[in-house]
Amino acid sequence: MTSGEVVARAPAKVNVHLGVGPLRADGFHELRTVYLAVSLFDTVTVRPGDGLSLTLSGEGADGEVPVDRRNLVWRAAELLATFAGVRADAAIDIAKKIPAAAGLAGGSADAAAALVALDALWGTRADRSDLAGLAAQLGSDVPFSLHGGVALGSGRGEELSPVLARSRWDWVLGIAGEGLSTPAVYAELDRLRADGRVPDGTDLAPVEQVIAALRGTEPAAVAGALANDLQAPALVLRPGLRRALRAAKDAGAAGALVSGSGPTVAALATDESAAVRMAAALAGSGLFRTVRAVHGPVPGARVVPA
Ligand code: ATP
Repeated sequence: MTSGEVVARAPAKVNVHLGVGPLRADGFHELRTVYLAVSLFDTVTVRPGDGLSLTLSGEGADGEVPVDRRNLVWRAAELLATFAGVRADAAIDIAKKIPAAAGLAGGSADAAAALVALDALWGTRADRSDLAGLAAQLGSDVPFSLHGGVALGSGRGEELSPVLARSRWDWVLGIAGEGLSTPAVYAELDRLRADGRVPDGTDLAPVEQVIAALRGTEPAAVAGALANDLQAPALVLRPGLRRALRAAKDAGAAGALVSGSGPTVAALATDESAAVRMAAALAGSGLFRTVRAVHGPVPGARVVPA
C-alpha cells in the first residue's frame, strides 16, 4: 500500500483489421481483430480516500462521460477491491485526451489505467494475468488497453495473442464532433447483413497479411491490408465519413479507415513528417473537430512518475 498518489496512463487503440463474425447466442459478435496501441493517452490519478469518488477533466467533461458508477473506472475499482478483498477507498481523477465514443477505446483505456494505479495504491499484489482476467470482465477492449503494443484479438476481442511488430507507424486521427454508439453500429451491421447488403460474416477474413505487413516497414503493404467490417454500418449512420475518408487520401494518406465503431478516421502516413503535413491539411479541411498525429505501437497501461 502506498500512502501518496499513483498516476497511470493508458493509450488509445486503432483496429488495423476488424473482422466481425455473425451474432452469437450470448448477444456478442465473434471478432477477429488486430489492435495497435497509439500515442494518445488518458491519465488516471488515484489517492487514498474514504469510499470512491471520481472527477474528470478534458474530453467528455461536458457531461458526455458519467462520473458515477456508470463510469468504467468506477466498476474497475469495485471489481479490483472485491478481487483483492480490500475496501474500495480511493479518490480517482481521469484526465481525458482520448475522445469519448470515438472508436478509440477511451473508456477501456481509463479502466485499464485505473486497474494498474489502484493495484499499486492498495498493494493488492495482483499479477499481470489477474489484472488481465479482471480487464476481460470489464469490457472486450480492456485487456488490450492493459497490454498495448500490437495484438490479435479473438472471442469478443478480449482473447489476446501478442504480435511482435517493432516498426513505427505514423497515423493521423480525424475526430468528429459527435460520437457514435458502438451498439448502434453493430445493430446497423446486423441490419445490413439481414438485407444481404454486406457479406454475412460467416467467413472471417484472414489476418496473416496485415500482421506480416505490420512486421515489415512498407506503409503501402499495411495500407493494402486495412479492413473494418464496421466501416459500412458506420458510413450508413454517418454518410459524411465518406468525405472524411476521401479527404485523408487527398491529403496523402497511404490508406485510411474508420477506427473501430467510428466515427474517428485513422489515416496511415508514409512517415512522421508526412503525418505532420497530413494533420495540418486535415485540420484545415473543416471536416473534423480535432486532428491528432500519433504513432504506434506504444505500451499499454503503466504507472508513470507522479
Ligand atoms: P470502443 O472503441 O471500445 O467501442 P469507444 O472509444 O467508441 O469504445 P468509449 O469512449 O470507450 O467508446 O465509451 C463509450 C461510452 O461509454 C461513452 O459514451 C460513455 O457513456 C461510457 N463510458 C463509461 N466510462 C467511460 C470513460 N471512462 N470514458 C469514456 N466513456 C465512458
